[in-house]
Amino acid sequence: MIELFQAQDRIEAQMLKDYLQDRGIESVILNDHLSGALGELPANIFPTLWLLEDQDLSKARQLKEQFLNLHASKVAAWRCPACGEQIDGGYEICWNCSTPGPKDNNKE
Ligand SMILES: [Zn+2]
Repeated sequence: MIELFQAQDRIEAQMLKDYLQDRGIESVILNDHLSGALGELPANIFPTLWLLEDQDLSKARQLKEQFLNLHASKVAAWRCPACGEQIDGGYEICWNCSTPGPKDNNKE
């Protein structure tokens, strides 16, 4: 086994595990049961995702990056100023009316 990723919480670890499993990579979550068994959440113990097959590591790392980008873009969702649609952060223009998102203004 080889370590892939230390998650922020159990939900994130489980989501990434499912994401990898859908793409043919088997993994397990470790440390997960420790926090439950103690009855409180130790601040420095996070669930860690381990790959069953070391040879999956490079592919799994790419998938992990995709997963994290997806995850981050959901947080950065924006609302179209023209038509009021809620747009996922992965889109730079409104999928409904093609108005550019507010992100373009921040970079200059
Ligand atoms: Zn729009």
